[in-house]
Amino acid sequence: MLDRRTFVGGAVGAAAAALAAPAIAQGRFKVVVVGGGAGGATAAKYLVRDEAKADVTLVEANRTYVTPFTSNLFLGGLKPYSGLEFGYDRLAGHGVRLVFDRVVGIERERRRVRTAGGDALAYDRLVIAPGIDFRWDAVPGYSEAASARMPHAWRGGDQIRLLKAQLDAVGDGGVIVIVAPPTPYRCPPAPYERAAMMAHALATRGVRGARIVILDVKDHFVLQPLFEDGWVRHYPGVIEWQDPKMHGGLKRVDPAEMTVTTDLETIKADVVNVVPPQMAGRLGRDAGLADESGFCPVDAATMLSLRDPHIHIVGDAATGGEFPKSGFAANNEAKQVAMLIRAEFLGGRRLPVRFTNHCWSTIAPGDAIKNGGRYEPRDGRIVLFDPYTSQRDESEELRAKQAREAVGWYAGMTTDIFG
Ligand SMILES: Cc1cc2nc3c(=O)[nH]c(=O)nc-3n(C[C@H](O)[C@H](O)[C@H](O)COP(=O)(O)OP(=O)(O)OC[C@H]3O[C@@H](n4cnc5c(N)ncnc54)[C@H](O)[C@@H]3O)c2cc1C
Repeated sequence: MLDRRTFVGGAVGAAAAALAAPAIAQGRFKVVVVGGGAGGATAAKYLVRDEAKADVTLVEANRTYVTPFTSNLFLGGLKPYSGLEFGYDRLAGHGVRLVFDRVVGIERERRRVRTAGGDALAYDRLVIAPGIDFRWDAVPGYSEAASARMPHAWRGGDQIRLLKAQLDAVGDGGVIVIVAPPTPYRCPPAPYERAAMMAHALATRGVRGARIVILDVKDHFVLQPLFEDGWVRHYPGVIEWQDPKMHGGLKRVDPAEMTVTTDLETIKADVVNVVPPQMAGRLGRDAGLADESGFCPVDAATMLSLRDPHIHIVGDAATGGEFPKSGFAANNEAKQVAMLIRAEFLGGRRLPVRFTNHCWSTIAPGDAIKNGGRYEPRDGRIVLFDPYTSQRDESEELRAKQAREAVGWYAGMTTDIFG
């Protein structure tokens, strides 16, 4: 028997269902992509190939994207800031509908997203790629406000310019501290490449007697013997890596005094680059898509959220196995998701899901190392099956070739994403 409550609930439910009714029934499939970085912009571009059958809307908070990838080369003076900036005009030209706004909520039941500007965008499939957020309070004394003095420079944009300005002001005998994050974090080799590029910038300006101290919470880091070998060859006596056994634990940072205190000592520094522990971008967490790790678990074969079968999550916000958090990986995941959505709903071909990732780290001009491999879904997780890692004794020619590859990769990757 219907009581008033059931009836009202039913009416609301029916209205909600009508709102959420797949646009397929009306002839056009609606995909909304949130986040126009490496993952989201790629997804939008590869989805709009079926423009005749699908509406593809990309919602991005900023009109210009500054790639975090290769930003270390900007610090090193090897590329201009303008070389990191990309706009969305070409995506619009391909047929992607662009909304420059911040998504403030995902109404999962109604299958729509709400923006700060007041739009409500209905979707049949949602792809989110909001990148990372920081656990600001994990480093005592650090905060979002403190990042104006002690930049993280881990999401591109003004932070990277601030860090570069501070680096360029370091004089003889100056001290730089890099606080390296715990895993999992965006681009595992990047803090150590950053140290090398900072040392290169100092050397180029003829700065003498400067120190770069990396305070790590990890006992070891990716490609460690190769980085340490490169640091000693190119920048003898400049870069010093301290693991927790050495520094005894990071006690606090003081942005007003520009000091970093460990169990061992208090370091007064000219530059403090704090890279805090990370988690999925707020959008994914607020929508209830994250687990206790702070990242959003996905099924490896589809990148579908384990919390919601209508939402794909790509890029750094996702967690699902051994695939690292990189621009290369985000781009790869997005293309797989576009292929799967087109195959399921738009009549495209479904090919086996495979991922590739390689990361190049530049130690000095003409000397780059690389690691990565191929990955595939196995039992719901993404698993590495064809690894590649640079070797310590490889030739100068190979290192120089890898440095050229890094430049070529960036050009190809950014064209693939934004071109
Ligand atoms: C120093 C450094 C060096 C790196 N080097 C490399 C490298 O050599 N190779 C490599 O492959 N990777 C590298 N990376 C990693 C790479 O930058 C990231 O893995 C990649 O950017 C992740 O892509 P994403 O799409 O998940 O997130 P992002 O590229 O960060 O994009 C997220 C986007 O979402 C938008 N957004 C977030 N929330 C909302 C919202 N609510 N509404 C609207 N828009 C929103 C943001 O504005 C942003 O544009 C490096 C990173 C760093 C920091």
